[in-house]
Amino acid sequence: MQESEFMTVPVFRFAPSPNGHLHLGHAYSALLNQRMAHAAAGRLLLRMEDIDRERCTPQLEATMQEDLHWLGFDWETPVRRQSEHFEVYRESLDRLIRMDLVYPAFLSRSDIRREMQKVMAQGRAWPHDPDGAALYPPTDRMLTHRQRAQRMNEGLPFSWRLNMDRALEHVGEPLFWQETADGGSNIAARPQDWGDVIIARKDMPTSYHLSVVIDDALQGITHVVRGKDLFQATSIHRLLQHILGLQPPAYHHHDLILDHDGQKLSKSRKDTALRALRLEGVTPGQIRELVGLQD
Ligand code: GLU
Repeated sequence: MQESEFMTVPVFRFAPSPNGHLHLGHAYSALLNQRMAHAAAGRLLLRMEDIDRERCTPQLEATMQEDLHWLGFDWETPVRRQSEHFEVYRESLDRLIRMDLVYPAFLSRSDIRREMQKVMAQGRAWPHDPDGAALYPPTDRMLTHRQRAQRMNEGLPFSWRLNMDRALEHVGEPLFWQETADGGSNIAARPQDWGDVIIARKDMPTSYHLSVVIDDALQGITHVVRGKDLFQATSIHRLLQHILGLQPPAYHHHDLILDHDGQKLSKSRKDTALRALRLEGVTPGQIRELVGLQD
């Protein structure tokens, strides 16, 4: 065995956002991470993706950890809390600003809607991202540095958006990721489908996409195991990893646990919350059975 192979311990992570209660879908994701980490004799980390300081609270985090303990999910401590590392994300954001790959975007939702209506009134379609959201118009991307500075000085609210065309040009080669679900394959990334995604906000120097790639790299994650709802977003993650020189992990996008109507479970649904099930007397073993991960 090569020395490098010998030294590589697989590292997995479960990375919920403490903005609600864990449900069966989270239980499946956490337990699958645990099963795969154990099978690979790997490490298992828990990360709190709590950059949204309005929706994520210490109480919700405490409840989540309690539910995970109850479930039998065993993670290494300390837990990484993204809200404690804003300065790390800020550095990468500054780098992207210096590289001229992001720009301040000033349009509000209603501004975007107005732009869309104009274009659609001419019989033209407006492009949407893989999640169904309207792509950001090129308006702000065209502003001169002077116009940008002027608007920023006026104190107008803005987000930092990736200039997707420029980012793709900067990368200059097709990107792929290693997918281990469904038999495994090399997936061609399609970041262009997402348009000018938000990288940071005026008052928050990061976004889900930026923090997730930075933390996965900083924590030495080798295997990201998460729901298929994030499959398409992996294209953005590969792009950011390439630009920021971060080592990409392998990805395993698992099936989602759906409700009776075939809809994705959400944190606002009470009936599939682990709390509620536990109160009804459901045991951790029964949760494993419910999500199909009994031993
Ligand atoms: N924090 C994300 C969520 O709760 C998951 C991020 C990830 O696993 O990459 O949906």
